[in-house]
Amino acid sequence: MVGAERESITQRAFTGGLPADAFIDATLADIHRRYLGLDDGEVADYIPILAEADPSRFGLSLIESAGAVHEIGDADLEFSIQSISKAFVFALVCQARSTELVHERVGVNNTGLPFNSVMAIELNDGKPLNSMVNAGAIATTALMPGATSAEKWENIRSGLSRFAGRQLRLDGRVYQSEMEANQRNKALARLLESYGRIITDPLDTVDVYTRQCSLLVTAHDLAVMGATLADGGINPLTRSRVVSAEVARDTLALLASCGMYENSGEWLFEIGLPAKSGVSGGIVAIAPGKGALGTYSPRLDSAGNSVRGQRACFHISRALGMNLFASNAVERPWKG
Ligand code: GLU
Repeated sequence: MVGAERESITQRAFTGGLPADAFIDATLADIHRRYLGLDDGEVADYIPILAEADPSRFGLSLIESAGAVHEIGDADLEFSIQSISKAFVFALVCQARSTELVHERVGVNNTGLPFNSVMAIELNDGKPLNSMVNAGAIATTALMPGATSAEKWENIRSGLSRFAGRQLRLDGRVYQSEMEANQRNKALARLLESYGRIITDPLDTVDVYTRQCSLLVTAHDLAVMGATLADGGINPLTRSRVVSAEVARDTLALLASCGMYENSGEWLFEIGLPAKSGVSGGIVAIAPGKGALGTYSPRLDSAGNSVRGQRACFHISRALGMNLFASNAVERPWKG
């Protein structure tokens, strides 16, 4: 986002709550209309089945911490969650084991390198650096409680379903397609094993990781899952606690620095929200205490982030006062 377009959208401050419902609905409708015609970017094809996605699809969902739902376009269209699962599996593992354990075994620093980088591991003595890149995500999945891979998988599926507030199901075709094309993830897992960073069977762990990436969600689901993190770990629609407020906070901190591949710094600078994207075209962006956005549009930029999704998040974040770093001066009547 540069120049005139960047400044053409009025920046509302984060201070205070979200605007009135009618304003939010009108803003989403305007943004959907505005970016529907944008056809920059390419649909991912390194997992063969992802290339079948219809590039015209575009859905936006905003769910407030208090439970209000605002949606437009293809907000109920299912797609595989892919890398966005990493954020929620991180939270589940921190909750079930401990944040310290994940911090020590995996790390919480940005790699500055592509999501499937082997070099990042080699440069850091086998430490995968964070749970949002593939190596770190595989190491995090390995830490999920469960005596067998089947138990770990069930814990992940049910945990992500609690975040979404509905039973999420696996897309068997996506899983098969990815299993036939994920030699690199298998190599990453073997490399982690060689460094003693995972002690479970590496190929079984990649199998569970691939399943978690093949769960089907909608933009609406992503917004509910994100709004759970925005609401101190309580799902705003089911009102049940999924993770503690501390885990929700730690997850958001990690997403702020590592959620958007190599463009995480640029994203934070422009949009000012912790977020996670995935190669199938989804983005979840979270405004703590306010709510979350879920977007779906499958055309990606070179870093792997949805082109329309990023534009929409930029615009919504500005127009609705979701950028964490945008403040208004407080009234100081007591200062005379
Ligand atoms: N399952 C994908 C992979 O491991 C996820 C990639 C992504 O969404 O960034 O390559």
